[in-house]
Amino acid sequence: MKKIQMVDLQSQYAKIKDVVDPSIQEILESAAFINGPKVHQFQKNLEDYLGVKHVIPCANGTDALQIAMMGLGLQPGDEVITADFTFAATVEVIALLQLTPVLVDVDPVTFNIDVEAIKKAITPKTKAIVPVHLFGLPAEMDEIMALAKEHNLYVIEDNAQGIGSSYAHKDGTKSKTGTIGHVASTSFFPSKNLGCYGDGGAIFTNDDDLAHTIRGIVNHGMYKRYHHDVVGVNSRLDSIQAAVLDAKLPHLDSYNKARRAAAKKYNEAFANHPKIATPTGLEAHDADDSHVFHQYTLNLKDVDRDALVAHLQANNIPCGVYYPIPLHNQKAYQDERYNEADFKVTNQLVQSVISLPMHTELDEEQIEFITTTVLNFINQN
Ligand SMILES: *Cc1c(COP(=O)(O)O)cnc(C)c1O
Repeated sequence: MKKIQMVDLQSQYAKIKDVVDPSIQEILESAAFINGPKVHQFQKNLEDYLGVKHVIPCANGTDALQIAMMGLGLQPGDEVITADFTFAATVEVIALLQLTPVLVDVDPVTFNIDVEAIKKAITPKTKAIVPVHLFGLPAEMDEIMALAKEHNLYVIEDNAQGIGSSYAHKDGTKSKTGTIGHVASTSFFPSKNLGCYGDGGAIFTNDDDLAHTIRGIVNHGMYKRYHHDVVGVNSRLDSIQAAVLDAKLPHLDSYNKARRAAAKKYNEAFANHPKIATPTGLEAHDADDSHVFHQYTLNLKDVDRDALVAHLQANNIPCGVYYPIPLHNQKAYQDERYNEADFKVTNQLVQSVISLPMHTELDEEQIEFITTTVLNFINQN
Protein backbone atom coordinates (compact mmCIF):
# COMPACT_ATOMS: atom_id res chain seq x y z
CA MET A 1 0.00 0.00 0.00
CA LYS A 2 1.19 3.51 -0.82
CA LYS A 3 2.17 5.50 2.30
CA ILE A 4 -0.87 7.39 3.61
CA GLN A 5 -0.49 11.15 3.80
CA MET A 6 -2.83 13.82 5.14
CA VAL A 7 -2.43 15.57 1.76
CA ASP A 8 -0.59 13.87 -1.12
CA LEU A 9 0.73 16.65 -3.33
CA GLN A 10 3.56 14.55 -4.81
CA SER A 11 1.23 12.00 -6.45
CA GLN A 12 -1.00 14.80 -7.72
CA TYR A 13 2.01 16.64 -9.18
CA ALA A 14 3.25 13.49 -10.95
CA LYS A 15 0.01 13.43 -12.96
CA ILE A 16 0.20 17.08 -14.11
CA LYS A 17 3.97 17.45 -14.33
CA ASP A 18 3.95 17.48 -18.14
CA VAL A 19 1.75 20.60 -18.10
CA VAL A 20 3.12 22.34 -15.01
CA ASP A 21 6.83 22.02 -15.78
CA PRO A 22 6.83 23.68 -19.22
CA SER A 23 4.53 26.38 -17.88
CA ILE A 24 6.99 27.22 -15.09
CA GLN A 25 9.88 26.97 -17.56
CA GLU A 26 8.18 29.55 -19.75
CA ILE A 27 8.08 32.00 -16.85
CA LEU A 28 11.76 31.39 -16.08
CA GLU A 29 12.68 32.13 -19.67
CA SER A 30 10.42 35.16 -20.05
CA ALA A 31 11.56 36.55 -16.66
CA ALA A 32 8.09 38.09 -16.25
CA PHE A 33 8.02 37.08 -12.60
CA ILE A 34 5.73 39.82 -11.31
CA ASN A 35 2.51 40.95 -13.01
CA GLY A 36 3.31 38.81 -16.04
CA PRO A 37 0.70 37.73 -18.60
CA LYS A 38 0.15 34.41 -16.76
CA VAL A 39 -1.29 36.22 -13.76
CA HIS A 40 -3.81 37.98 -15.97
CA GLN A 41 -4.62 34.77 -17.86
CA PHE A 42 -5.27 32.87 -14.62
CA GLN A 43 -7.37 35.76 -13.30
CA LYS A 44 -9.58 35.67 -16.42
CA ASN A 45 -9.89 31.89 -16.35
CA LEU A 46 -10.88 31.92 -12.69
CA GLU A 47 -13.45 34.69 -13.32
CA ASP A 48 -14.98 32.51 -16.06
CA TYR A 49 -14.93 29.39 -13.90
CA LEU A 50 -16.60 31.11 -10.94
CA GLY A 51 -18.96 33.28 -12.94
CA VAL A 52 -17.80 36.37 -11.07
CA LYS A 53 -16.98 39.77 -12.59
CA HIS A 54 -13.71 40.41 -10.79
CA VAL A 55 -10.92 38.24 -9.42
CA ILE A 56 -8.07 40.22 -7.87
CA PRO A 57 -5.07 37.97 -7.21
CA CYS A 58 -2.96 38.64 -4.13
CA ALA A 59 -0.24 37.06 -2.01
CA ASN A 60 -2.22 34.75 0.29
CA GLY A 61 -5.64 34.10 1.77
CA THR A 62 -5.01 36.11 4.91
CA ASP A 63 -4.09 39.19 2.88
CA ALA A 64 -7.18 38.59 0.74
CA LEU A 65 -9.41 38.86 3.82
CA GLN A 66 -7.61 41.94 5.09
CA ILE A 67 -7.71 43.69 1.71
CA ALA A 68 -11.42 42.88 1.31
CA MET A 69 -12.09 44.58 4.66
CA MET A 70 -9.90 47.55 3.73
CA GLY A 71 -11.70 47.85 0.40
CA LEU A 72 -15.06 48.06 2.14
CA GLY A 73 -13.74 50.97 4.19
CA LEU A 74 -14.40 49.36 7.56
CA GLN A 75 -13.23 51.65 10.38
CA PRO A 76 -11.68 51.01 13.81
CA GLY A 77 -14.40 50.08 16.25
CA ASP A 78 -16.72 48.62 13.63
CA GLU A 79 -17.95 45.22 14.74
CA VAL A 80 -17.42 42.24 12.47
CA ILE A 81 -19.19 38.97 13.24
CA THR A 82 -17.51 35.68 12.43
CA ALA A 83 -17.41 32.06 13.56
CA ASP A 84 -15.67 30.90 16.73
CA PHE A 85 -14.78 27.63 15.01
CA THR A 86 -12.44 28.44 12.11
CA PHE A 87 -8.81 29.05 11.27
CA ALA A 88 -7.42 32.05 13.15
CA ALA A 89 -6.70 34.09 9.99
CA THR A 90 -10.33 35.13 9.82
CA VAL A 91 -10.35 36.85 13.20
CA GLU A 92 -6.70 37.91 13.00
CA VAL A 93 -7.23 40.40 10.20
CA ILE A 94 -10.31 41.86 11.89
CA ALA A 95 -8.22 42.55 15.00
CA LEU A 96 -5.25 43.76 12.98
CA LEU A 97 -7.37 46.45 11.30
CA GLN A 98 -8.56 47.49 14.78
CA LEU A 99 -12.08 46.42 13.96
CA THR A 100 -13.87 44.59 16.75
CA PRO A 101 -14.19 40.83 16.21
CA VAL A 102 -17.45 39.38 17.48
CA LEU A 103 -17.18 35.60 17.60
CA VAL A 104 -20.33 33.50 17.54
CA ASP A 105 -21.08 29.80 17.83
CA VAL A 106 -21.52 27.32 14.99
CA ASP A 107 -24.03 24.65 14.03
CA PRO A 108 -23.27 21.19 15.47
CA VAL A 109 -24.07 19.36 12.21
CA THR A 110 -22.63 21.63 9.49
CA PHE A 111 -19.88 23.19 11.68
CA ASN A 112 -20.74 26.49 9.93
CA ILE A 113 -21.67 29.82 11.52
CA ASP A 114 -25.03 29.67 13.32
CA VAL A 115 -27.47 32.14 11.79
CA GLU A 116 -29.47 32.50 15.03
CA ALA A 117 -26.23 33.33 16.85
CA ILE A 118 -25.44 36.01 14.25
CA LYS A 119 -28.89 37.55 14.82
CA LYS A 120 -28.27 37.78 18.54
CA ALA A 121 -24.85 39.36 18.05
CA ILE A 122 -25.94 42.22 15.78
CA THR A 123 -25.66 45.67 17.41
CA PRO A 124 -25.80 49.21 15.99
CA LYS A 125 -22.00 48.98 15.58
CA THR A 126 -22.08 45.83 13.45
CA LYS A 127 -20.79 46.49 9.94
CA ALA A 128 -20.01 43.08 8.46
CA ILE A 129 -20.46 39.32 8.69
CA VAL A 130 -17.73 36.89 7.66
CA PRO A 131 -19.15 33.42 7.00
CA VAL A 132 -16.52 30.72 6.43
CA HIS A 133 -17.41 27.79 4.17
CA LEU A 134 -15.77 25.52 6.70
CA PHE A 135 -14.14 22.31 5.51
CA GLY A 136 -15.66 22.97 2.06
CA LEU A 137 -19.36 23.07 2.95
CA PRO A 138 -21.20 26.27 1.98
CA ALA A 139 -22.54 28.32 4.89
CA GLU A 140 -26.24 29.26 4.95
CA MET A 141 -25.86 32.11 2.49
CA ASP A 142 -29.53 32.89 1.74
CA GLU A 143 -30.25 33.46 5.42
CA ILE A 144 -27.02 35.39 5.94
CA MET A 145 -27.61 37.65 2.91
CA ALA A 146 -31.19 38.34 4.04
CA LEU A 147 -29.97 39.26 7.51
CA ALA A 148 -27.26 41.49 6.04
CA LYS A 149 -29.79 43.26 3.85
CA GLU A 150 -32.14 43.84 6.76
CA HIS A 151 -29.37 45.37 8.90
CA ASN A 152 -27.38 47.01 6.10
CA LEU A 153 -24.25 44.90 6.64
CA TYR A 154 -21.50 43.72 4.32
CA VAL A 155 -20.93 40.02 3.81
CA ILE A 156 -17.35 38.87 3.24
CA GLU A 157 -17.17 35.17 2.37
CA ASP A 158 -14.03 33.40 3.57
CA ASN A 159 -13.84 30.88 0.75
CA ALA A 160 -10.35 29.57 1.53
CA GLN A 161 -11.71 26.06 2.09
CA GLY A 162 -14.64 26.13 -0.32
CA ILE A 163 -13.34 26.90 -3.80
CA GLY A 164 -15.30 25.06 -6.46
CA SER A 165 -18.30 24.35 -4.27
CA SER A 166 -21.78 25.48 -5.23
CA TYR A 167 -24.43 26.84 -2.93
CA ALA A 168 -28.00 25.78 -3.68
CA HIS A 169 -30.29 28.79 -3.14
CA LYS A 170 -33.79 28.28 -1.77
CA ASP A 171 -35.22 29.26 -5.19
CA GLY A 172 -33.48 26.30 -6.85
CA THR A 173 -30.66 28.25 -8.52
CA LYS A 174 -27.02 27.73 -7.68
CA SER A 175 -24.03 30.01 -7.17
CA LYS A 176 -20.39 29.17 -6.67
CA THR A 177 -19.27 30.02 -3.14
CA GLY A 178 -17.33 33.25 -3.12
CA THR A 179 -19.70 34.94 -5.58
CA ILE A 180 -22.68 35.49 -3.26
CA GLY A 181 -21.49 38.01 -0.67
CA HIS A 182 -20.37 41.57 -1.40
CA VAL A 183 -16.80 40.32 -1.56
CA ALA A 184 -14.95 37.06 -0.92
CA SER A 185 -11.45 35.85 -0.22
CA THR A 186 -9.68 32.64 -1.03
CA SER A 187 -6.30 31.01 -0.42
CA PHE A 188 -4.12 29.06 -2.83
CA PHE A 189 -1.98 27.58 -0.03
CA PRO A 190 -0.61 24.27 -1.40
CA SER A 191 -2.97 22.04 0.60
CA LYS A 192 -6.14 23.96 -0.30
CA ASN A 193 -8.49 22.48 -2.92
CA LEU A 194 -6.89 24.73 -5.56
CA GLY A 195 -3.34 25.12 -4.29
CA CYS A 196 -0.18 26.52 -5.83
CA TYR A 197 3.44 25.63 -5.01
CA GLY A 198 4.00 28.47 -2.58
CA ASP A 199 1.65 31.14 -1.23
CA GLY A 200 -1.20 32.74 -3.13
CA GLY A 201 -4.68 34.14 -2.69
CA ALA A 202 -7.42 36.14 -4.36
CA ILE A 203 -10.36 38.43 -3.73
CA PHE A 204 -13.62 38.06 -5.69
CA THR A 205 -16.40 40.58 -6.21
CA ASN A 206 -19.17 41.50 -8.65
CA ASP A 207 -18.95 45.18 -7.62
CA ASP A 208 -17.00 47.25 -10.20
CA ASP A 209 -16.22 50.14 -7.82
CA LEU A 210 -15.05 47.84 -5.05
CA ALA A 211 -12.89 45.90 -7.53
CA HIS A 212 -11.26 49.16 -8.63
CA THR A 213 -10.62 50.21 -5.03
CA ILE A 214 -9.12 46.80 -4.21
CA ARG A 215 -6.86 46.75 -7.29
CA GLY A 216 -5.28 49.93 -5.93
CA ILE A 217 -5.03 48.66 -2.36
CA VAL A 218 -3.07 45.54 -3.36
CA ASN A 219 -0.61 47.81 -5.17
CA HIS A 220 0.43 50.36 -2.50
CA GLY A 221 -2.76 52.37 -2.90
CA MET A 222 -1.77 53.38 -6.44
CA TYR A 223 -4.37 54.04 -9.08
CA LYS A 224 -1.95 56.03 -11.22
CA ARG A 225 1.76 55.22 -11.18
CA TYR A 226 3.46 56.87 -8.17
CA HIS A 227 0.23 58.55 -7.05
CA HIS A 228 -0.74 57.00 -3.71
CA ASP A 229 -4.38 57.86 -3.03
CA VAL A 230 -5.00 55.52 -0.11
CA VAL A 231 -2.84 53.54 2.30
CA GLY A 232 -2.39 50.20 0.60
CA VAL A 233 -0.30 47.07 0.91
CA ASN A 234 2.01 45.08 -1.34
CA SER A 235 0.24 41.83 -2.03
CA ARG A 236 0.83 40.00 -5.30
CA LEU A 237 0.39 36.57 -6.80
CA ASP A 238 3.65 35.87 -8.64
CA SER A 239 3.72 34.55 -12.20
CA ILE A 240 5.16 31.13 -11.29
CA GLN A 241 2.28 30.51 -8.87
CA ALA A 242 -0.21 31.76 -11.45
CA ALA A 243 1.25 29.29 -13.97
CA VAL A 244 0.77 26.43 -11.50
CA LEU A 245 -2.77 27.54 -10.70
CA ASP A 246 -3.71 27.97 -14.34
CA ALA A 247 -2.48 24.42 -15.03
CA LYS A 248 -4.51 23.07 -12.08
CA LEU A 249 -7.74 25.06 -12.56
CA PRO A 250 -9.07 22.80 -15.37
CA HIS A 251 -8.74 19.89 -12.89
CA LEU A 252 -10.49 21.58 -9.97
CA ASP A 253 -13.87 19.98 -10.58
CA SER A 254 -12.37 16.51 -10.96
CA TYR A 255 -10.22 17.08 -7.87
CA ASN A 256 -13.29 18.02 -5.86
CA LYS A 257 -15.13 15.02 -7.29
CA ALA A 258 -12.30 12.76 -6.11
CA ARG A 259 -12.55 14.30 -2.63
CA ARG A 260 -16.30 13.67 -2.56
CA ALA A 261 -15.81 10.09 -3.71
CA ALA A 262 -13.34 9.50 -0.87
CA ALA A 263 -15.74 11.14 1.61
CA LYS A 264 -18.55 8.90 0.38
CA LYS A 265 -16.47 5.78 1.02
CA TYR A 266 -15.58 7.03 4.49
CA ASN A 267 -19.24 7.84 5.22
CA GLU A 268 -20.37 4.38 4.08
CA ALA A 269 -17.84 2.67 6.34
CA PHE A 270 -18.90 4.72 9.38
CA ALA A 271 -22.65 4.78 8.62
CA ASN A 272 -25.01 4.48 11.59
CA HIS A 273 -22.22 4.00 14.11
CA PRO A 274 -23.51 5.19 17.50
CA LYS A 275 -20.19 6.86 18.36
CA ILE A 276 -19.44 8.51 15.01
CA ALA A 277 -21.25 11.43 13.36
CA THR A 278 -20.14 11.60 9.72
CA PRO A 279 -20.13 14.88 7.81
CA THR A 280 -23.31 16.10 6.15
CA GLY A 281 -23.40 17.17 2.49
CA LEU A 282 -23.55 13.80 0.74
CA GLU A 283 -27.20 12.86 1.27
CA ALA A 284 -29.42 12.19 -1.74
CA HIS A 285 -30.98 15.67 -1.54
CA ASP A 286 -27.61 17.43 -1.53
CA ALA A 287 -26.28 18.82 -4.81
CA ASP A 288 -23.35 16.82 -6.12
CA ASP A 289 -21.13 19.87 -6.09
CA SER A 290 -21.92 21.46 -2.75
CA HIS A 291 -19.49 20.02 -0.18
CA VAL A 292 -15.95 19.97 -1.62
CA PHE A 293 -14.35 18.31 1.43
CA HIS A 294 -11.33 20.45 2.09
CA GLN A 295 -11.33 18.36 5.28
CA TYR A 296 -13.15 15.16 6.13
CA THR A 297 -14.12 15.61 9.77
CA LEU A 298 -15.84 13.20 12.12
CA ASN A 299 -17.56 14.24 15.32
CA LEU A 300 -16.94 11.50 17.91
CA LYS A 301 -19.13 10.62 20.86
CA ASP A 302 -17.76 8.88 23.98
CA VAL A 303 -14.45 8.14 22.28
CA ASP A 304 -11.05 8.92 23.81
CA ARG A 305 -9.87 11.09 20.93
CA ASP A 306 -6.27 11.40 22.08
CA ALA A 307 -6.01 7.62 22.31
CA LEU A 308 -7.51 7.27 18.83
CA VAL A 309 -5.01 9.78 17.46
CA ALA A 310 -2.17 7.78 19.05
CA HIS A 311 -3.60 4.53 17.65
CA LEU A 312 -3.77 6.00 14.14
CA GLN A 313 -0.24 7.35 14.43
CA ALA A 314 0.98 3.95 15.55
CA ASN A 315 -0.52 2.58 12.34
CA ASN A 316 1.14 5.30 10.22
CA ILE A 317 -2.15 7.04 9.55
CA PRO A 318 -1.85 10.81 9.84
CA CYS A 319 -4.83 12.76 11.15
CA GLY A 320 -5.58 16.27 12.37
CA VAL A 321 -7.65 18.15 14.91
CA TYR A 322 -9.15 21.20 13.23
CA TYR A 323 -9.51 23.13 15.47
CA PRO A 324 -8.37 22.25 18.97
CA ILE A 325 -9.10 25.58 20.71
CA PRO A 326 -12.12 27.88 20.25
CA LEU A 327 -10.98 31.27 18.96
CA HIS A 328 -12.71 33.04 21.86
CA ASN A 329 -10.37 31.16 24.23
CA GLN A 330 -7.21 32.03 22.33
CA LYS A 331 -5.03 34.43 24.30
CA ALA A 332 -4.95 36.95 21.44
CA TYR A 333 -8.72 37.06 21.00
CA GLN A 334 -10.14 36.89 24.51
CA ASP A 335 -12.79 39.48 25.28
CA GLU A 336 -14.55 39.96 28.60
CA ARG A 337 -17.86 40.36 26.78
CA TYR A 338 -17.84 36.69 25.82
CA ASN A 339 -19.94 34.27 27.82
CA GLU A 340 -19.03 30.56 27.76
CA ALA A 341 -22.71 29.62 27.61
CA ASP A 342 -22.85 31.21 24.13
CA PHE A 343 -20.22 28.83 22.75
CA LYS A 344 -21.65 25.43 23.70
CA VAL A 345 -21.19 23.88 20.26
CA THR A 346 -17.65 25.08 19.59
CA ASN A 347 -16.57 24.20 23.12
CA GLN A 348 -17.80 20.65 22.46
CA LEU A 349 -16.47 20.28 18.89
CA VAL A 350 -12.89 21.20 19.83
CA GLN A 351 -12.92 18.14 22.07
CA SER A 352 -14.64 15.66 19.78
CA VAL A 353 -13.66 16.32 16.14
CA ILE A 354 -11.01 14.48 14.18
CA SER A 355 -10.06 14.97 10.53
CA LEU A 356 -8.91 11.99 8.47
CA PRO A 357 -6.60 12.06 5.44
CA MET A 358 -8.35 13.88 2.59
CA HIS A 359 -6.89 14.64 -0.82
CA THR A 360 -7.33 13.89 -4.49
CA GLU A 361 -5.13 10.77 -4.57
CA LEU A 362 -6.61 8.53 -1.86
CA ASP A 363 -7.16 5.01 -3.17
CA GLU A 364 -9.61 2.35 -2.06
CA GLU A 365 -6.98 0.27 -0.28
CA GLN A 366 -5.89 3.26 1.81
CA ILE A 367 -9.45 4.25 2.71
CA GLU A 368 -10.25 0.66 3.66
CA PHE A 369 -7.17 0.53 5.92
CA ILE A 370 -8.01 3.89 7.53
CA THR A 371 -11.67 3.06 8.21
CA THR A 372 -10.86 -0.42 9.52
CA THR A 373 -8.20 0.97 11.85
CA VAL A 374 -10.58 3.65 13.18
CA LEU A 375 -13.44 1.17 13.67
CA ASN A 376 -11.24 -1.45 15.33
CA PHE A 377 -10.15 1.08 17.91
CA ILE A 378 -13.60 2.52 18.57
CA ASN A 379 -15.29 -0.88 18.79
CA GLN A 380 -12.71 -2.22 21.23
CA ASN A 381 -12.58 0.78 23.55
C1 LIG B 1 -6.10 28.76 4.87
C2 LIG B 1 -7.12 29.67 5.40
C3 LIG B 1 -6.93 31.06 5.44
C4 LIG B 1 -5.63 31.72 5.18
O1 LIG B 1 -5.02 31.44 3.98
P1 LIG B 1 -3.44 31.68 3.81
O2 LIG B 1 -3.26 31.61 2.32
O3 LIG B 1 -2.74 30.60 4.53
O4 LIG B 1 -3.11 33.03 4.33
C5 LIG B 1 -7.98 31.85 5.86
N1 LIG B 1 -9.16 31.33 6.25
C6 LIG B 1 -9.37 29.99 6.25
C7 LIG B 1 -10.70 29.48 6.69
C8 LIG B 1 -8.37 29.13 5.84
O5 LIG B 1 -8.58 27.81 5.85
